[in-house]
Amino acid sequence: MFTYDIALLPGDGIGPEIMDATLLVLDGLAAGIPELSFNYETYLIGADHYLKTKELLPEYAVAGCKAAHAILLSAVGIPEVRFEDGTEIQPQIMIGLRKELDLYAAVRPVKLYPGVKSPLGNTGPGIDMVVVRENTEGLFASFNGGAVVNNQAIADTMIITRRGSERVIDFAFRLARRRSGRPSDGKRRVTCVDKANIFRSLAFFRKIFDEVAVKYPEIGTERGYVDAMTVHMLQRPWDYDVMVMENMFGDILSDLGAGLVGGLGLGPSAEIGDDYMLFQPSHGSAPDIAGQGIANPMALILSAAMMLDSLGDKYDDALAARSGKLLDDSVAEVLAKGEGLTPDLGGAASTDELANTVLAAVRQRINQGV
Ligand code: NAD
Repeated sequence: MFTYDIALLPGDGIGPEIMDATLLVLDGLAAGIPELSFNYETYLIGADHYLKTKELLPEYAVAGCKAAHAILLSAVGIPEVRFEDGTEIQPQIMIGLRKELDLYAAVRPVKLYPGVKSPLGNTGPGIDMVVVRENTEGLFASFNGGAVVNNQAIADTMIITRRGSERVIDFAFRLARRRSGRPSDGKRRVTCVDKANIFRSLAFFRKIFDEVAVKYPEIGTERGYVDAMTVHMLQRPWDYDVMVMENMFGDILSDLGAGLVGGLGLGPSAEIGDDYMLFQPSHGSAPDIAGQGIANPMALILSAAMMLDSLGDKYDDALAARSGKLLDDSVAEVLAKGEGLTPDLGGAASTDELANTVLAAVRQRINQGV
C-alpha cells in the first residue's frame, strides 16, 4: 500500500467549493482501492489569506508543498485585491510558486469528450491535443522587474534561455512518445509555436526546437507562427497532437483550446518540474459565481486524474496510473450521459450533485473491476 502526501491549496472564490467536491471523489476512489491512500495537508494561501494576514507565499506553505508528493491547487486571486501599480496579488503567489518549485512545463490537455458540445460546427475526427507551455521564463521572466522609466514607459522583457527551452521542448517530445498521435491520422507530432519571423528570442526558441527534434526521429515536427495557429486551432484542431511554446503564448492558446472543448470548467492542467509537480484547473477563482454552489468541479477532478497518472509515472506505481485512468474514464462517462451537469455545461446540477454523480461512476467501475 502506498500513501501519497498531497498538499492542498484551496485558494479563493470557487476554489474551496471545487476542492471539497474533488476530495469527495478522491476519497471515494481511495476507499474502493485499499492499496491506494492519500494524506492531505491544507495551506490557505490566496487573496483572502493575504487580506487577513498580509502573507503572500509564506515559507511554511512552500516547505509543505516541497515535502508533498504532489500539490493540488484550485485557484487563487480576487480581482479587487491589487497592489498600487494596478497588478493583482495573484501572480506573486502563482508565479512565485512556479519559480520556487521550478515547475517548467505546464501541460494543458485540450480534449473533446464524447457528449460535450464544441462551439465548432465540425469537429472532424475529434480534438485531442496538448498545449505544453514553458512556465518559468518567456514574457513572464521579468515579472516584478522589467524597466520602468519614471511614469513614462514600462518594459516587460521576453527572456528565452537555452536551458529553459531545451528542457521544455524535450519534455514535449517525451510526452508525444507516450501519446497515440493526432486524431486525423494517428501520427505523433510536436508543433513549435512561435513568432520566429519577427523576434530574435523566438527564432532562438525555434532553433533549439530543431536541435532537440533530431533526438526524436520517430516523431513528426511542424513549426507555426502563433497568430496563424489561432486560426488552425479553429479550422482543423484534429491535426494537432503536442504543441510547445513560450509562456505567454501558452497562457493564451490553452484558454482558446479550453473554449473549443467545453469551456474553462473542463480545462485541467499539470505543472511539472524535475523535483515537484502541481495540478490545477486552467480557470481562475470565478468570483462571479463563488458561493452559489454551481461551479463546475470537473477541471479540478480531471487535474486530480492527471496527478494520479503522474504519480504512477514518477513512482513506478501502476495502480496509481490505473486509478488516474479510472477517474478520467468516469468523468468521460458522466459527460457522455449528459445528465447531472452544472449550468456552464447546460445542466442545472450543483457542484456537490455533479461530484456525487462522478463518485457513483467511480464506485461502479471499481465494483465492476474496470
Ligand atoms: P475565471 O477563469 O475565474 O472566470 C472566467 C469565466 O469563466 C467566469 O465567467 C467564470 O464564472 C467562468 N468559470 C471559470 N471557472 C469555472 C468553473 N469551474 N465552473 C463554471 N464557470 C467557471 O477568470 P477571471 O474572471 O479572469 O479571473 C478571476 C480571478 O481568478 C482573478 O483574480 C484572476 O487573477 C484569478 N486567476 C487565477 C488563476 C490561478 O489560480 N491559476 C488563473 C486564472 C485567473
